[in-house]
Amino acid sequence: MRAGKIASLCLVLIVAAVGAVLSLLATSLPWLASMHPVLRLCLTFLGLATVSAAILLPLGTTLDRTVARLRSYIEATGTERRTATFWGPKWARPITRALIGAVEQFRQREQMLTNELREVQIRHRVSEAERRQIESVLHVLRDAVLVTNAFGDIVIVNEAAGRILGFDHTQALHQPLEQFVDDECLCQLINETAETANFADRRHVEHEISVPDGQGDKEQTLLFLVTLACLENHKREVGGVVTILHDLTRVREISQMKTDFVSKASHELRTPLSSIRAYVEMLVDGEATDEESRQEFYRIIQNETERLGRLIDNMLNISRIEAGIVQIERENVDIKHLITRAIDTLEPEASQKQITLNSKMAEVDLSVEGDCDMLFQVVLNLVSNAVKYTPAGGRVTVAADSDNLTRSVVVSVSDTGLGIPPDAIGKIFDKFYRVENYKRVAKGTGLGLSLCKHIVETLHHGQVGVESKLGMGSKFWVTIPMRYAGSQAA
Ligand code: ADP
Repeated sequence: MRAGKIASLCLVLIVAAVGAVLSLLATSLPWLASMHPVLRLCLTFLGLATVSAAILLPLGTTLDRTVARLRSYIEATGTERRTATFWGPKWARPITRALIGAVEQFRQREQMLTNELREVQIRHRVSEAERRQIESVLHVLRDAVLVTNAFGDIVIVNEAAGRILGFDHTQALHQPLEQFVDDECLCQLINETAETANFADRRHVEHEISVPDGQGDKEQTLLFLVTLACLENHKREVGGVVTILHDLTRVREISQMKTDFVSKASHELRTPLSSIRAYVEMLVDGEATDEESRQEFYRIIQNETERLGRLIDNMLNISRIEAGIVQIERENVDIKHLITRAIDTLEPEASQKQITLNSKMAEVDLSVEGDCDMLFQVVLNLVSNAVKYTPAGGRVTVAADSDNLTRSVVVSVSDTGLGIPPDAIGKIFDKFYRVENYKRVAKGTGLGLSLCKHIVETLHHGQVGVESKLGMGSKFWVTIPMRYAGSQAA
């Protein structure tokens, strides 16, 4: 049964009941008053119920039908509704029209809100994608990036920032800066930047931070260039601060190395140059009075010029290798042949010092893929050093063998010479390094071993090393891979 029918039925009952009660009270009507009260009650009730039912029930049914049509009209969608026309009893039309108008308005509003919601969802998805993109860019950056809002809470932070400042960047989002950044000076810099409210300029400050060195509990102090920028929000007030930390340590080291190189190089170049100038001046001034002195001066000038040439050649070779612009001629090089050539070259110098120069070469193929001239220079340098720093009567042995495990040829040059002081071992392959006490023993540039290391390690992907006991002698060794794996290694 529908609501209209139920309502009309209720109304029928109410009317009949009220009528029946009233009939009891109506004593002024003689024909009613003469009737027994129960009969009067029943008759009135039945009479009124029948009459009101005859009027109200059809009304209820019409109301139900109207409501049902109204509902189906409202529920109809799209073209279905556009083509539908609403009709109903005339008396109900003003109400239904008002209802339909309200529903239409509601529908339009709903449509508008649905469109707006869709737009917001799309915008949210786009900004979410952009946020993820920015996040991945930030996370691949080596520089630390930290953004705080106007309340000093961290709103953006990348992995590098967490690593450098010693916290888990995933935990720090929306947390107060001071809670995660222990570096008081950095926090102060960020707070000061926010206080200045200067949106036009950026602050650049050099700042040292102790960071874990990645090995155990040790810490290392790194120098950072801190760039701070104050952000403006839509109300033109301070919206936050962007902080970027750029590691300057390596740049500083390289710049220091360059400065050291230039000063050492100029110092080394000045020594032979001063000597040449002094002897030339003496010759010009006629201080060499006899032919023998003149010849002696010429010889010194020649030696110093050769030393100058060697120094410049070595410097150029090292810097070319370091810059990666050296093209090497890779060919099959017989190491045995190189050793024999080096021994032949240095034999006169060795025998002059009564030094025994011998070789021990394994009876196997000892050829490698490499640059013949450069590898010859390595062997020559090591044997020459051994002869130079071994006192008269000593012994120099050049040995060569193959290492099947690493597929390399191992060459070692052992001497019974001065040996290397323990504190100098670590610096022996550095540019211009010379053991102070040995400067009187032999002339040198301090570049030979550095060049050997570059040729072996950088150009041939081998290794160099030294073992030495002060006063007992030294053993320098190099390993050269038999097959060049440069293209894979590069
Ligand atoms: P240098 O031209 O001075 O020999 P190197 O770079 O070849 O330059 O060698 C650097 C320094 O290492 C030398 O000055 C010397 O003090 C030390 N050195 C090299 N080889 C030996 C060796 N066999 N025995 C002792 N000291 C050596």
